[in-house]
Amino acid sequence: MVPHWASPFGRDADPITQLMIDEELRAAGVRRPVNPIGIGWAGPTLMYAGTAEQKERWLWPLLSGEEFWCQLFSEPGAGSDLAALTTRAERDGDAYVINGQKVWNSYAHIAKWGILLARTDPSAAKHAGISYFVCPMQAPGIEVRPLVDMTGEHAFNEVFFTDVRIPADHLIGAEHGGWELAKVTLGNERVSLSGEAARVAARVAARVAVLSSPASVTGSSRYGSRVRFCGSCGSAPYRPFWRGRLREQRRRCARPSPMHTGSTS
Ligand SMILES: Cc1cc2nc3c(=O)[nH]c(=O)nc-3n(C[C@H](O)[C@H](O)[C@H](O)COP(=O)(O)OP(=O)(O)OC[C@H]3O[C@@H](n4cnc5c(N)ncnc54)[C@H](O)[C@@H]3O)c2cc1C
Repeated sequence: MVPHWASPFGRDADPITQLMIDEELRAAGVRRPVNPIGIGWAGPTLMYAGTAEQKERWLWPLLSGEEFWCQLFSEPGAGSDLAALTTRAERDGDAYVINGQKVWNSYAHIAKWGILLARTDPSAAKHAGISYFVCPMQAPGIEVRPLVDMTGEHAFNEVFFTDVRIPADHLIGAEHGGWELAKVTLGNERVSLSGEAARVAARVAARVAVLSSPASVTGSSRYGSRVRFCGSCGSAPYRPFWRGRLREQRRRCARPSPMHTGSTS
């Protein structure tokens, strides 16, 4: 799932190896778990700051898609200015007690875990008094209210916290050190979202080009080189060391074309 992560969760893969793994899995039709917030930005933050126990507990089911994650950052008065957040977390014995409200929380209604920012020191400067938690979404005192958008789709939610107790060992990193981790999360969020947008745009562009050409079309491969795409099925020819995949393409292409002989790249 995440070849670039360190072992044992990934393979420390360099960028080219990552692309090759991606392409091979796609060509083989392997469906990968859907858990965008978990895999895209909660996971990398846990890799960065989680203890060995926290990584072992949360990362495996996160990667398999077994446990879905959401993000509990934005508030009605804290969007672009995220450090203005007012949701409180107060230490009480072996737990933190959470009170406040979050908003725009994608898929909070189906998530098992949420990454939560809450203020643990209201007397500190606003970036300094925030802590980062993993929040069990089924904990008593959590109310998830749907925000249905104008297309009728329900992805966003408001999440209300009333005396929600989160075990103290769900704190990630240092108490009051949450802003540093928020930046790790947001950095990964930007990369994940822009990567996904680029993939969708590339797929659409390739498809449009194929649909407007009966034979074959020229475009840029994801490696930057100019290649010709099959005018029938839209796939790019594989390189010689992926010859097994050429046979698979020929078999799947509705109108087998010379593109799949491997001689046209
Ligand atoms: C598709 C989508 C999914 C999301 N999912 C989640 C999620 O799962 N979890 C979560 O916590 N949040 C989520 N969000 C919320 C998102 O992170 C916030 O929308 C974002 O932080 C902006 O906050 P806001 O919407 O309150 O806008 P505001 O901060 O109120 O900004 C409104 C407008 O004012 C402008 N503005 C703000 N401050 C200034 C300034 N100082 N000077 C000039 N202009 C300014 C902004 O550029 C913007 O145009 C999601 C948002 C979207 C669109």
